[in-house]
Amino acid sequence: MSAEGKKGQLKSNNSPLLIAGPCSAESEEQLRKSIFPILHKVDFVRAGVWKPRTRPGNFEGAGEDALIWMNNLRQETPFKAAIEVATPEHVELALKHNIDLLWIGARTTVNPFAVSELAAALKGTDVPVYVKNPIHPELALWKGALERLAKANIKQLGAIHRGFHTYQKTEFRNVPMWQIPMELKSEFPELPLICDPSHIGGSRAMIESLSQKALDLNFNGLMIETHFDPDNALSDAQQQVTPARLIEIIDQLIIREAHF
Ligand code: PEP
Ligand code: MN
Repeated sequence: MSAEGKKGQLKSNNSPLLIAGPCSAESEEQLRKSIFPILHKVDFVRAGVWKPRTRPGNFEGAGEDALIWMNNLRQETPFKAAIEVATPEHVELALKHNIDLLWIGARTTVNPFAVSELAAALKGTDVPVYVKNPIHPELALWKGALERLAKANIKQLGAIHRGFHTYQKTEFRNVPMWQIPMELKSEFPELPLICDPSHIGGSRAMIESLSQKALDLNFNGLMIETHFDPDNALSDAQQQVTPARLIEIIDQLIIREAHF
């Protein structure tokens, strides 16, 4: 324990939520090697099943096959699974395969029509639904998506800060603009707010410092991309960390009083 807080306790009682796993589910073997070594450290395993690529021609996800791989692995060793959904059909398949947490991606949050369709498909669900901020720095769209889902009586809502695209040249892939998630938090103090340092930094070297910054700002958790062979990942190769590095990062993070 350090003077300011405790190290390495992301998984204790009230400690921050930790979601980790690969950007994309690529195969059952890739999932196994990427997530089995971290299961004792994480609350939910993430894996992208339908990938929202900004431009065509890249890996777009394995679809329902990936849900089957996850469930095969969960039969061996149970874990809670989290995926991104962007359409009512994704929601239907995710619920059919008993996915435990859903998130709405940055490219969907920007679109009120898409969010309304998702809200209708999710109406009344007990499954937690987390909403990433829209790609560009537009707090109203983020709030609007959360409000549409709240109106559909989705009981466990949360928000994910993944940074904002701007045309400025900066060290970040998506500039954090911490004041925007902080403003969301002050307006909705009960809403769990977690940070995605992977998509903010866009580089594995930045994951630890961004995670610590988020914890220092009292974020309620982290979502971190983890791949057993990051350099050969089919998406977001530069920002994924190995399972061993993820564990090292978690064990280094200092958790402040507010999380105890
Ligand atoms: C992801 O989580 O892999 C992803 C596509 O994120 P975002 O919607 O934040 O770009
Ligand atoms: Mn990604």
